[in-house]
Amino acid sequence: MSHYNPVSSGVIDKLKAIVGERNVVLDPDKLHPYSHDEVTDPRYHHMPEVVVYPEAAAQVADIVKLANAELVPLVPRGAGTGLACGAVPVYGGIVVAMEKMNKILEINAEAMYMVVEAGARTEEVQKAAGEAGLFYAGDPCSGDSCFIGGNAATNAGGNRAIKYGTTRDQVYALEVVTPTGEITTLGGRLRKCSTGYPLEQLIMGSEGTLGIITKVTLKLLAKPRHVMDLLLVFSDIDKAIGIVLVLAKAGLAPACVEFMDNNAIKSAEQFTKEKLPYDEAGHYTIVQIEGASEEDLEDKAAAIDELASANGAMAVLVPDSAKIWRARKAFAEAVRAETLIHSNEDVVVPVDKMPEAIRELDRICRKHNAVARTVSHAGDGNIHLSILQGAIPEDEWPDRLSEIHRDIFDYVYSIGGKLSGEHGIGYKRKQWMETYSDPVQLTMMRAVKRALDPKLILNPGKIFDVE
Ligand SMILES: Cc1cc2nc3c(=O)[nH]c(=O)nc-3n(C[C@H](O)[C@H](O)[C@H](O)COP(=O)(O)OP(=O)(O)OC[C@H]3O[C@@H](n4cnc5c(N)ncnc54)[C@H](O)[C@@H]3O)c2cc1C
Repeated sequence: MSHYNPVSSGVIDKLKAIVGERNVVLDPDKLHPYSHDEVTDPRYHHMPEVVVYPEAAAQVADIVKLANAELVPLVPRGAGTGLACGAVPVYGGIVVAMEKMNKILEINAEAMYMVVEAGARTEEVQKAAGEAGLFYAGDPCSGDSCFIGGNAATNAGGNRAIKYGTTRDQVYALEVVTPTGEITTLGGRLRKCSTGYPLEQLIMGSEGTLGIITKVTLKLLAKPRHVMDLLLVFSDIDKAIGIVLVLAKAGLAPACVEFMDNNAIKSAEQFTKEKLPYDEAGHYTIVQIEGASEEDLEDKAAAIDELASANGAMAVLVPDSAKIWRARKAFAEAVRAETLIHSNEDVVVPVDKMPEAIRELDRICRKHNAVARTVSHAGDGNIHLSILQGAIPEDEWPDRLSEIHRDIFDYVYSIGGKLSGEHGIGYKRKQWMETYSDPVQLTMMRAVKRALDPKLILNPGKIFDVE
C-alpha cells in the first residue's frame, strides 16, 4: 500500500495552470509510452496518471511544490531509453517529461564549455560541440535518442569511458530542482573545488531520486586530430578480453575498447542485415585510437597490431568503421528483435577479472537452459550480458530468471564486482540492491534520501525502498 494520493481533478487544474493546458496529457493512449522504458518485461510497466511537459525550471519547481502539497509521486523522465526502469511511474502519479526543455543555451568555444537544457539529445550536444570546433566526450550507444539530463541522472558511460570517464567527468555544473521545489545550481565552472560536499556528484547517478536536473554545464575538449578504428579478431574469448590490459600496460591509452562475442556478432548481423568479417567463429575487440598526427596514429596502430598478434589475434583489420559501430551499437535492439523475453544485465567487474567473468556468466546461463549474448565496454570492466529465454518455458521464465540472477550476482560480488556499471538500479534491480549492498551504505543512502525528500515524492520505488 502506498501512502500517496491519486491525482485529483484539482491537481490536474493546478498542473494546467503551471504548464498550460497543451502541456498536460491525460489520454491513456498517449500515457502508455510513459509506462515503460526499454525494458520489455511487462512486470515492470506501470501507467502514469498524467504526463506534464514543463518548458522552464520555474515550472518544474512549481510542479514539485504541488506534488509535495498534495502528496502525489513525481517521476522525472528523459527520452525513456533507460534499461533499469528508472523512469517508470511505479506508484502512478505525475511523469515530468523533459523533452520540451531541449535547448542548447550557450557554447563558449573560447572557455571550452557549453550549457544545455536537460532535454537536449546527446547526439545534438555532440554535433553542436563539433560545429564549434570542439569535442563532447560523452558517448553512450543510445546517443541518437537519449537526453543529456538522463545521462547525468544515470551517470551514463559508453564507448569512450575508458579514456574520458563517465558523464560525471564531463559535467561542470547542474541546475537542479530539489525534491522540495527549490532551484539551485550545484558545482561550478571550476577545474577543482574543495568547498563543501560535491553535491552535483551526488545528483549524478541518483536516477532522479534526489532532484530534477533542468540545465547542465558541460566540459568541452579539443577535438581528437586523427582517429582510427581497429578490429581485432580472436577465436579465444580470454585472449580477446586479455588484450585490454596488454594495451593499457603498453601505454597506448585507446579511446574505446569494446568487446562482442560471436553470438552478439551474429545477432547484430541478423538485425542490421549486414555481413560482418570473421562471423563464423570470431570474437571482436574493437579498438579506437587517437593520434596527434597521421604518423603518430600509424605508430600506435602498428604497435597494437604487433601486440594483438603476439597475444593470439587471428586477424587485425582496419574495418568499415560505420558498419562495425552500427553492429556494436545495435546490440540491445538486436537482442530485442530476437525475443522480447530477455533480460539485459549491466554488471561491472575488475578489469583483470573480465575473461573469467564472461566465461562464468555464459556457463551460468547454459546451466539454466538460457542463452547468453555478451558485449562489453571491455576497457572498463562493464559487461552487458543479455539473458535470452532459450529452452526455458515461458511460464517458468520469471522464477528461472530469478535463479539465474542470484547465481550471476553471487558470482559477480565474489570477485569484487557490482550490479550496474552504467544503466543504474532503477526499479528493475532494486530487490538485488537490497540483497547485495552493505547495510551501512544502504542506511547512509536512505538517510540522504529522507533528508532531501522528506515526503518521498521524487521517483519513489527506485534504487532501494525507504520505508
Ligand atoms: C540501444 C541502447 C544503448 C544504450 N547504451 C548505453 C551506453 O552505452 N551507456 C549507458 O550508460 N547507457 C546506455 N543505455 C541506457 C540509457 O540510454 C542511458 O541510461 C541514458 O542515460 C538514459 O537517458 P534517457 O534520457 O533516456 O533517460 P530515461 O530513460 O528517461 O531515465 C533514466 C533515469 O534518469 C532519470 N532522469 C531522466 N531525466 C532526468 C532529469 N532531467 N532529472 C532527473 N532525473 C532524470 C529517470 O527518472 C530515470 O531514473 C542504452 C540504452 C539503449 C536502449
